Amino acid sequence: MSNTLTPNHNGAPDKAGQALPDKAGLGLRITEIFYSLQGEARTVGLPTVFVRLTGCPLRCVYCDTEYAFSGGDLFSIEQIAAQVAGYSPRYVTVTGGEPLAQKSCLPLLATLCDAGYEVSLETGGAMSLAGVDRRVVTVLDLKTPASGEVERNDYGNISLLRSGDQVKFVICDRQDYEWARFKLDEYQLADKVADVLFSPGFGQVEGRELAEWILADNLQVRLQLQLHKLLWHDEPGH
Ligand code: SF4
Repeated sequence: MSNTLTPNHNGAPDKAGQALPDKAGLGLRITEIFYSLQGEARTVGLPTVFVRLTGCPLRCVYCDTEYAFSGGDLFSIEQIAAQVAGYSPRYVTVTGGEPLAQKSCLPLLATLCDAGYEVSLETGGAMSLAGVDRRVVTVLDLKTPASGEVERNDYGNISLLRSGDQVKFVICDRQDYEWARFKLDEYQLADKVADVLFSPGFGQVEGRELAEWILADNLQVRLQLQLHKLLWHDEPGH
């Protein structure tokens, strides 16, 4: 379904390919709001409204949302909440880009929780989770070496994860797999969060190959194939 954004300001693209810093009253820079099936994580396959915030401080080599690096339009939290309500969803996912790069993401999450939705946050792991509403399910990426952004992981976030949260690794090759396996053990992630997700880098590792590695090592992780890519490839709005 296409988005139905009607911004309150037309913001110019930012200079650095990141979201402009939002100030009180200006709201958030939004790339799209759309209704689709959740493509990954615990609620995969369930109808979900996605709120995609503009901007990201990372540049992962496999990024599939480069169109969200810049541009977008400014919306107030009230306008975003009204658009979300139009779909009457149960599940709402706040994603990006990197949603936590905009300070007003935190009050947006709280507002969506207050409205009674089951809210999840997809974050790339470089920004602190401090201040995220306790009702939100966080899906935290830990960037692997092949992402090109492994140095940006904020490992302090691991102590802020709650039992209902999820940690995701995008595995691009065997070295990534070994690295992820090490982190799984180092931080005892399988005991700490609801799910640890191993997702094959699209076009880089076959799902079957990753499945066989997981089984051979008896890892307590969930293999995740990205449903939205199987159904809609990389079309924006899905
Ligand atoms: S963190 Fe996500 S949005 Fe940002 S560059 Fe990496 S994959 Fe793309």
